[in-house]
Parts: sequence; structure tokens; C-alpha cells
Amino acid sequence: MEAVRSRLRVLTDAPTKMKLAAASHQKLEAFFREYLDDENFRLPVIYFYAGRFTGILTDLIGVHGITFGKRIFIKPRFVSLDKNNLPQLPADLTAHEIAHVLQYEREGFIKFFYKYLSDYRRNLRKFEKRDVYSRQQAYLEIPFEIEARCAAAQFVEWRKLRDGVRRDEG
Ligand SMILES: [Zn+2]
Repeated sequence: MEAVRSRLRVLTDAPTKMKLAAASHQKLEAFFREYLDDENFRLPVIYFYAGRFTGILTDLIGVHGITFGKRIFIKPRFVSLDKNNLPQLPADLTAHEIAHVLQYEREGFIKFFYKYLSDYRRNLRKFEKRDVYSRQQAYLEIPFEIEARCAAAQFVEWRKLRDGVRRDEG
């Protein structure tokens, strides 16, 4: 049985354009403040798209999500509704893509893009064959991807601990 994936609430601005609900925004901001060891860290306003165009784009590239600056495109099937019919996103995927938003900010848009693609190409050269496996490995070994996976895993753990503590207190 698959473990229940923890999720974060988002608010809808337009049918396909969403942003984090205030509580989710605060939670992620508090996490990254600790994770980056920067008490002045502010999480920027980030927009999430999960419309038809995003579905085509994510299928084409073969990813669950992709980030351009402060815009995150999430494969539509990952948007679910909670019991109050409010949209929510997987917490790990959201934290992963937000880590990319922060990388864009840190490196600058063009530099991030250039570095990301040249790391991918360099990784791909290590393989003799260009097939699905080598492309997947080359993608997974991009340093920006390793960093984003690490942040997402830490966020899931951090949230579990914090929510656990709160339950004990309550
Ligand atoms: Zn990624």
C-alpha cells in the first residue's frame, strides 16, 4: 500500500492559476528559514499553474512539475481537492519546485537555466547510449535537482516532526 502523501493547501486565483494558502506559505517560509539558516528569509509570492497547457508541457518533457522563475507548472493530475473542495498539492513536489524558485533567485534566471542545461548535457555524455534510462539518470544527477530533492525530503520530515509536536502539545 502506498503511504498517504502529505499535501499543502493552495488557493485559486483563476481556474488554473493558484497560489499557496496563507498557512501553507507560512509553513514553507518557516521551513526554508531554518533550512537555509537565514532568519530574514522571505518566501516570495509564487504562482502555480495546472491547466491544459501545463498538462501538455509536463507530458512532453516527462516531469511532474517544472519551474520558471516564480512560476511553477504542476501536472494537473497532482492537484487534488480536500474535504472542503479546496485544491491542494503534494507537499514534497511543492517544496521541490520551490527549491528551484530559490535557485533561480540565487543564480539569476539566465545563469540558472544555462547551468541546469549544461549540467544535464555533461551528465548525458557519461552514457554511451541515449535512451530513457540515461536521460533519466542525467536529469537526476543535475546538482540543482539533487539540492531540490534534498530540500523536499527535509521539508516532509520537518513537517512530520512539527505536526507531531503540536499534536502532543494539544
Ligand atoms: Zn526538479
